Amino acid sequence: KHTAELIAAGEVVERPASVAKELLENAIDAGATQITLSAVRGGIQQLQIVDNGSGIEAEYIDKAFIRHATSKIATAEDLGHIHTLGFRGEALASIASVARVEVLTRTETDEYACCYRIEGGEERGMEPGARPVGTTITVSDLFYNTPARMKFLKKDASEGTFVAETVLHAALSHPEISFRYLRDGKQQYVTPGDGDLRSAVYAVLGREFARDLLPVDGGSELYHVTGLVTPPRACRASRGAQHFFVNGRYVKNRTMMAALENAYKGTMMQGKFPGAVLMLELPPDMVDVNVHPAKTEIRFAKESDVFDAVYRAVRAALATPGS
Ligand code: ADP
Ligand code: MG
Repeated sequence: KHTAELIAAGEVVERPASVAKELLENAIDAGATQITLSAVRGGIQQLQIVDNGSGIEAEYIDKAFIRHATSKIATAEDLGHIHTLGFRGEALASIASVARVEVLTRTETDEYACCYRIEGGEERGMEPGARPVGTTITVSDLFYNTPARMKFLKKDASEGTFVAETVLHAALSHPEISFRYLRDGKQQYVTPGDGDLRSAVYAVLGREFARDLLPVDGGSELYHVTGLVTPPRACRASRGAQHFFVNGRYVKNRTMMAALENAYKGTMMQGKFPGAVLMLELPPDMVDVNVHPAKTEIRFAKESDVFDAVYRAVRAALATPGS
């Protein structure tokens, strides 16, 4: 198979943002309440994540990073291998096969931290280190050993923007976690982690956007819709401020977008768009998230039910006094 096809399939590490997404998910899964992500040169030169989660047990570290002891990916020619093995459950191994990775981690029962290095799938050793309970993962020189994939990256600034969006989505879907994001050493934002969506929105999207947002809480029996939407008078020139989440995952979805925008019909100027952070919760069997494991496309079993629930919830929000 062609490298380009693998990239299109999205089943490999595609770009710095896909690395950031996997690292963020792991930190969230580890129960972290504070997560810092730093990107240098769009995350191509370096992505570092620091969390205060559970840490990784020393005996388990190499297993988390090595796919198979016998087969290691060193060249672009081996890419087909990643494809056949799939990506889920092997994020760290996939990342470690195409970058230089350093892990510093400590669990509650460890007396000291453990520092583990792996480069291009080759282990570089393990030594004692120091840090409080939690994990720091540093991913440097992404695709240094796979020039074919390096070629598909955009400019640093664009890759940096994709990384920023990934952190933003994590922060919006987890207001109970404090996220800090640094770009080329400069802090871009910190969310308070107080569990309030509005304060997370304030931190990552700014005061202007957060100011008059209307709370959404409605839907139907099976489809629960919550979040925040802009009042009609604060509509915008683009869709850039629409963020949708389904069962906690950031998604791109035309049905939710159409329902949101339809709810504003008659209240808004032509060619303007509402801003929104909308969370839909529904029974997992009513949504197919595996259309694209590493991507944001999903499919609903009943599109029209989703439309109705979102439409109704947003209409109700717009009908509240002050909108
Ligand atoms: P998956 O998340 O699907 O299990 P990954 O390759 O992303 O696969 O991670 C492998 C394992 O490494 C995780 O299951 C988890 O046990 C451990 N792990 C990864 N990152 C962290 C972290 N930040 N804190 C604690 N454990 C982690
Ligand atoms: Mg994972």
